[in-house]
Amino acid sequence: MKDTGFQIEHCRANCPKAARNWLNLNEELTKNLTELNLFLAIKDKFSPVLNHHIPKICLAGCPNGCSHPNIKDFGISGYVTPQITDAPCIGCNECVRSCLEKAITLNQNGIVIDAARCLSCGNCQHVCPSGTLTDGETGWILRIGGRVGRHPQFGKSAGQVQTDEEVLTWITDTIRRYIKNGQPQERLTHFLEREQVSLGIHANLQHAHESRNANFQHR
Ligand code: SF4
Ligand code: SF4
Ligand code: SF4
Repeated sequence: MKDTGFQIEHCRANCPKAARNWLNLNEELTKNLTELNLFLAIKDKFSPVLNHHIPKICLAGCPNGCSHPNIKDFGISGYVTPQITDAPCIGCNECVRSCLEKAITLNQNGIVIDAARCLSCGNCQHVCPSGTLTDGETGWILRIGGRVGRHPQFGKSAGQVQTDEEVLTWITDTIRRYIKNGQPQERLTHFLEREQVSLGIHANLQHAHESRNANFQHR
């Protein structure tokens, strides 16, 4: 098999818990990164090229992170926020039971979601029989700089975006910069630390939090 110079791991296909479909993103990302001839660039930096020199990317369909997005150079996890609609709540308590984060309480006026606890996993929307809870905003949570090995660390939050295109641009542009500016013997993970790459996506994160909180209000 031809060495591509990158590894993409992902969830199992068709997982019923997926908040976001990652299949197209996986396909487009593979195409974009293959075009970069990343293996040749890695070979210029390392001889011989070993597994830990190869940039690693993970796509997860939801915040459960079964495919381990926290320990990759780029970790991407799907999210879908719950939105409270005008459909009357029948007080069945299913959403409260489904929430592993204990983010939902039910009182005489209906449900309240604690935005600080909610991970936007989508569990509660899926069990609500009345349509009181439905899918709100959906997108991708981004992490960067995770790794295992001698000095393991979890990836740091790099923000949140709504489209596949934004994820593609984020990863492809960062790797282009690594090819161009990475030093001899410098792994991507160390380049990311040196450059402190976050790509200004924190602005989007702020926007995402604001719109997510808006979804939790009764309208
Ligand atoms: S991370 Fe979510 S979508 Fe992926 S396998 Fe786990 S539960 Fe399923
Ligand atoms: S989307 Fe939020 S409130 Fe709903 S089950 Fe998941 S964590 Fe709980
Ligand atoms: S919001 Fe839906 S799931 Fe939750 S208590 Fe009301 S009807 Fe039941």
